[in-house]
Amino acid sequence: MPGTWFSEKQLDSLAISCVVKKILHSERTPYQQIKVLDTDPFGLMLALDDVIQTTVFDEFAYHEMIALVPLNVHPDPKRILVIGGGDGGTVRECLRHPSPEEVTLVEIDARVVEVSRQYLPQLSSGLDDPRVKICYEDGTKYLKGKESAYDVIIVDSTDPVGPARGLFEEPFYRQIERALAPEGILVAQTESPFYNLDLIKKVFATWRGIFPTVRIYEAVIPSYPGGLWTFTLGSKKHDPVAVRGQVVAAGRYYSPAVHQAAFVLPNFLQGAVR
Ligand code: SAM
Repeated sequence: MPGTWFSEKQLDSLAISCVVKKILHSERTPYQQIKVLDTDPFGLMLALDDVIQTTVFDEFAYHEMIALVPLNVHPDPKRILVIGGGDGGTVRECLRHPSPEEVTLVEIDARVVEVSRQYLPQLSSGLDDPRVKICYEDGTKYLKGKESAYDVIIVDSTDPVGPARGLFEEPFYRQIERALAPEGILVAQTESPFYNLDLIKKVFATWRGIFPTVRIYEAVIPSYPGGLWTFTLGSKKHDPVAVRGQVVAAGRYYSPAVHQAAFVLPNFLQGAVR
């Protein structure tokens, strides 16, 4: 194959690859290797440790679905916490909803935010909004001692290896439950239903012991391995499937119909999370 290629290894026998037109940035931080690449067909791409985080081609699908689903389920989401998400895309989507008065981003690696500000302004522009506060800290440490402080918490993390490992474990989810107000909602990206079903089952079972309502929903993100991606939502009061009329801040991907459809799961996934 001619040209330079980027490959993200998913399994020992499987990778997702695309052509690299230009390497715009590459550095190693204390946490990870950060790359910004100009690719074909995904356009600008942020990769951490050679794992695709986001691309300008399909980032709207991921960021709208991780942010607008919970914000539309909560009747008045004023205080939002995003853990991870240093590229800014999730914060940008939260700010499209009219309710938030404060959006706090807790990102472990300041360089992800700085690099995104430099190369991916279409994602990071919302970070300069006066409602946004940024803390550079490990999400698990940030939550210690927080009680009833947030209406919606979104875990927009890297895969469950390295610094993000603790963001997929029960003590962290229990801290989140305490940090959420009585009508609070948690959403986390929970990987591919085809390649990470065991992880999804584990997260679902753990959350079932913590939240009265737990639902999984899906979106199609072509640059992620397998294309089909899951999000898990835990809710103290409101069932996301019951939301009909109050949907606001629709986007390029998200709409009231997509909201309903996203919770309809294929049989193999539905059967795994009964
Ligand atoms: N949309 C992406 C995906 O699913 O691949 C995730 C994007 S965002 C860039 C993930 C961020 O989580 C990274 O910038 C990483 O530094 C941050 N992160 C990883 N572990 C963390 C932790 N323990 N606390 C806070 N942020 C963390």
